[in-house]
Amino acid sequence: MLARCTSAAIVGVEACPVVVEADLGPGLPAFQIVGLPDTAVQESRERIRSALRNSGQRPLVSRLTVNLAPAALRKQGPSFDLPMALALQAAAGRIPLTWLEGLWATGELGLDGSLRPVRGVLAMAEAAQAAGARHLLVPKANGNEAAQIDGLSVLAAADLNEAQDQLNNPQVHPAPDQGRFVGTVDEFRFDLRDLQGQSHGRRALEIAAAGGHHMLLVGPPGCGKSVLARCLPDLLPPLSMEEALAVRRVHSVAFAQPEAGLRSQRPFRAPHHSCTPAALVGGGSPHPVPGEISLAHHGVLFLDELPEFGRHCLDHLREPLEQGAIDIARAGQRLRFPCQFQLVAAANPCPCGWWGDPVHSCSCGDAVRRRYWRQVSGPLLDRIDLHVPVRRLSPTEVSRPVAAETTVQVQQRLVVSRQNTSQRFGRQLFDNRLLDGRQLRLCSPLSAAARDLLDRLADRLGLSMRSLDRLMRVARTIADLANSERIEAEHLAEAATYRGCDLDVT
Ligand SMILES: [Zn+2]
Repeated sequence: MLARCTSAAIVGVEACPVVVEADLGPGLPAFQIVGLPDTAVQESRERIRSALRNSGQRPLVSRLTVNLAPAALRKQGPSFDLPMALALQAAAGRIPLTWLEGLWATGELGLDGSLRPVRGVLAMAEAAQAAGARHLLVPKANGNEAAQIDGLSVLAAADLNEAQDQLNNPQVHPAPDQGRFVGTVDEFRFDLRDLQGQSHGRRALEIAAAGGHHMLLVGPPGCGKSVLARCLPDLLPPLSMEEALAVRRVHSVAFAQPEAGLRSQRPFRAPHHSCTPAALVGGGSPHPVPGEISLAHHGVLFLDELPEFGRHCLDHLREPLEQGAIDIARAGQRLRFPCQFQLVAAANPCPCGWWGDPVHSCSCGDAVRRRYWRQVSGPLLDRIDLHVPVRRLSPTEVSRPVAAETTVQVQQRLVVSRQNTSQRFGRQLFDNRLLDGRQLRLCSPLSAAARDLLDRLADRLGLSMRSLDRLMRVARTIADLANSERIEAEHLAEAATYRGCDLDVT
């Protein structure tokens, strides 16, 4: 007899439907899986046999064939265990074929019949809902993730027997809880109140938050660069439902058991500089997974000690910074992972960290310092709008701390500037960072004094078109923060202070 149910293969962050067909035929006992399965799928045979036996089922003693269609699509990982086991049970006449009608299922089987969580359940739930599935059956640990999709009946089971129980009587089992999604952030991971001094760095952070600008902090070790960076996610508006789903979709593909529920807090990722290019931007063989830049989707990517990442890693960032997505080609497949992140990079001014410090002296020398900065390519620095020197705290600032402004206070100012930005584009949360030259000129009327200053700056600094646009983008955000439609000379002058440190390193 032949039985079939539906499952899905994850390609990038999308789920592609896969029909799982099982056939029990005459002949010597054997178990064959066809349809481009990888090793983990081949190993399903042993897991399914043991799981059935340890769940109190009789062994299947016939010639078993499972086909995963379409055959051209590569099938990876252990997530096909459950649909294969159910299709085999139905083909053997042990469960009714009607249970599998309109059923989508996914899950890894343990040898004892328990169901282990799998990756990509959110994407699969979306695909099942779009295809009009009757039920989606998932491991219990993935239930809450699948329940995020409205209009889909989700069954979540702890083991194979419970899965069959639920299919027998889907009505009596309560739907898994969606978890909590609140559109506000009620707990800050880092608060600006905890940062001493650094008025210039704080101001730059506020501009970065208002305009979505990428930022490079340059200063000696221990001066607060990383605290500044860690305060950024909570200055940004909470994730919308749609963004939270997009974030979860990526995390769900990367980890088998992501945390429960959807979060409105923006992701913050801080990979170590020893990470590989694949860990940073995504990839890996044989199953490419999203990298740190995609895990930071709709959030902040913090690269501390930027030059230490090395050119071989950093050059991979250019395309994703430009496009907000990365394409990865592997074994005849082309995958796309989203990665609209805001970059905060931090670096010491030189390998020893003390170049430019009034007290400590730098032991590196110009040649060493240049070599250090050469690890960061000019085109990457060009894409970072705000270059911010961060100085060491003075002894008085250390010994006599003063009460600092809190994250909530800065957030309140940012709400106003964000309204200015979104009114301009008739769309919520369009970052000034994304403005191209034409849009910039359309939305940035200059006062006479500002026009005059711009001419002088362009002349004195020999600005290229790209540098000029960068300057204007930052000036646009500073004017938004000042609630001004027109860019005044003072806005432009302040913007010019944030392009300083690339001048003496390249
Ligand atoms: Zn040095």
